[in-house]
Amino acid sequence: MIRLESINKSFGAHHVLKDVSLTVDKAEVVCVIGPSGSGKSTMLRCINNMEDIGSGTISIDGQPVYRYERDGKLIVDSEKQIEAIRAKVGMVFQSFNLFPHLTVTENITVAPIHVLGRSRGEATDIALGLLEKVGLAMKAQAYPHELSGGQQQRVAIARALAMRPKAILFDEVTSALDPELVGEVLRVMRALADEGMTMVVVTHEMGFARDVSDRVVFMADGKIVESGKPHELFSAPQQERTRDFLRSVL
Ligand code: ADP
Ligand code: MG
Repeated sequence: MIRLESINKSFGAHHVLKDVSLTVDKAEVVCVIGPSGSGKSTMLRCINNMEDIGSGTISIDGQPVYRYERDGKLIVDSEKQIEAIRAKVGMVFQSFNLFPHLTVTENITVAPIHVLGRSRGEATDIALGLLEKVGLAMKAQAYPHELSGGQQQRVAIARALAMRPKAILFDEVTSALDPELVGEVLRVMRALADEGMTMVVVTHEMGFARDVSDRVVFMADGKIVESGKPHELFSAPQQERTRDFLRSVL
């Protein structure tokens, strides 16, 4: 579903992603762990086309998003194609980024109406179904400021789902939440995983990574240092760098 081949990305002279290759199969849940500044968010932003890459190839569902030819020329498909690809991959952020002046339902329907061309009625039906799914049917008419952080984050997940994405990228979605609100968001994510959603989850929640993911990827200094099944990576990390990191967080 997602394929990154030898991605390189720099900000000026700062080489942030170094030959990163990653394949995520349909219905696979991949958790990405690693120290702050290792390039985890940048990698997700590249997958979702929010950043250009310096070299390498990214494809989603078999379609190239970005491609570089040997001479270093960037091949970007038309804006319209990029929009279509971006719509296939949802993203949920640490800061929920809901529109403050729109109700919960309007937050969820705005992109389906304006990007996918759904009718308001159809988009609203879908939104109400998704609110039910994330346990917030009673908040359909509320405004974001009337919700807790955990509720806002569940709305953000419903908003991503409303685009019927092929995959969802989660970037530290529980990091800004009060500890007692983390569980309700992780439960929604676990339910999505159980339904077969393809997910890439950057997280500090090692329990989630261990219990829910099919594969854990450890990143440091812009590289994928090691990856493996959660029980393998957590109980028998192969690299010293991974062992150091796990010692510091577990
Ligand atoms: P992580 O998510 O693992 O904490 P990031 O992907 O956010 O790491 O950042 C990786 C590195 O890239 C950091 O050194 C960060 O300062 C740098 N970086 C990220 N975004 C930008 C940007 N827009 N401009 C310049 N440097 C950036
Ligand atoms: Mg980050």
